[in-house]
Amino acid sequence: MPRNVGIVGAGIVGLAHAWSAAERGHAVTVFERSPRASGASIRNFGMIWPVGQTPGERHQTALRSRDRWLRLRDQAGLFVDPCGSIHLAHREDEWRVLQELTALAPGLGLDCQLLTAAEVQHRTPAVQPLGLLGGLWSPTELRVDPPAAIRTLPGWLAATYGVEFEWNTTIVEAQTGGLKRADGRWWRGDHAVICTGADLETLFPEILLRSGLRRCKLQMLKTVPQSAGWRLGPHLAGGLTLRHYPTFQVCAGLPALRERIAAETPELDQYGIHVMASQGPSGEVILGDSHEYDDAMEPFDKESIDELILGELRRIIHLPDWRIAARWHGVYAKHPTRPIIAEEPQPGVFIRVGIGGTGMTLSLGMAEQDWQQWA
Ligand SMILES: Cc1cc2nc3c(=O)[nH]c(=O)nc-3n(C[C@H](O)[C@H](O)[C@H](O)COP(=O)(O)OP(=O)(O)OC[C@H]3O[C@@H](n4cnc5c(N)ncnc54)[C@H](O)[C@@H]3O)c2cc1C
Repeated sequence: MPRNVGIVGAGIVGLAHAWSAAERGHAVTVFERSPRASGASIRNFGMIWPVGQTPGERHQTALRSRDRWLRLRDQAGLFVDPCGSIHLAHREDEWRVLQELTALAPGLGLDCQLLTAAEVQHRTPAVQPLGLLGGLWSPTELRVDPPAAIRTLPGWLAATYGVEFEWNTTIVEAQTGGLKRADGRWWRGDHAVICTGADLETLFPEILLRSGLRRCKLQMLKTVPQSAGWRLGPHLAGGLTLRHYPTFQVCAGLPALRERIAAETPELDQYGIHVMASQGPSGEVILGDSHEYDDAMEPFDKESIDELILGELRRIIHLPDWRIAARWHGVYAKHPTRPIIAEEPQPGVFIRVGIGGTGMTLSLGMAEQDWQQWA
């Protein structure tokens, strides 16, 4: 039976739900408080990153998301580049972790392979050859252009499925059968999905503020477009990243790597810095990032963090042009153990908040799983 579905928030979680609901023939309205989405979903790297997800169900969800991004490339004309990724090893302990993961990979359902230093250099002109021991190649990662994707999808959903968007519309109350706009008018419907990102205060604060969600601020940079024809190739991540994503927690060498980094460069741990690089469609290289939580978050960005990120990146990659064209930060909400806060506080009202640093990677697959259950 077609339902009247209301979705609060036009970030990637809201858009993923809008698409899955509309495909099933439901009448969908998306409410977004801003003139256009400006939250975490347009501020990120645009890395669809299955290799970083916990092996098992979460990794499978990421692969389902990947398939759906490729469908968006074909059907909505979005830029989606199946570029893959390489984790680079410039230190012995990093190389050991990559070797251990490769040995475990078939049993974990991961598709990845070790590359020698020469093979890495063959795949990307950007790698710093000095001290390079090798890399871990994974073919499953995609590159998308977040601002373009998040701002193109509403028009495509509207044209293809008749999804309605109410911009500049804050929802101040949600209950079974309706959503209340800030001007007091009610939208009436059967099913609401609350996808409000890092806003934990407006809707269901009694659940979200007590859920254990933490807010995290990330600093990012973008270079000017590189000279014509220069291509980074796959997404690149450094040895610091091995301590960031759960995939590598199965590796026996990881604790020693963590200890070495903590002893050598405690400032990287203090600001949660690990470094990655990805090239956008116009040739610019997106660089990041740092992680500062809750009370440590300031509205002002720290130049010292940008310098640390750039310093670490220069150690492992070289770019023809390091001039910085833009700096920004983004904020997401993240739970220490739960992949997302998924609750039904009232019949027919579903919360989907706090997907952390993996919203671009997981949302399309998670929304699809939800709508299979809600069918
Ligand atoms: C710097 C950075 C880099 C990242 N890199 C990656 C990456 O490479 N790969 C990856 O998978 N993930 C990445 N992430 C994480 C990813 O961006 C987030 O997980 C994802 O964008 C969260 O999506 P969302 O829809 O929950 O939130 P948002 O994008 O913040 O959207 C929430 C929307 O809800 C609206 N809203 C809130 N309250 C209301 C209300 N009451 N009424 C109406 N509208 C409301 C907001 O205005 C906002 O537009 C990164 C995040 C950051 C910050």
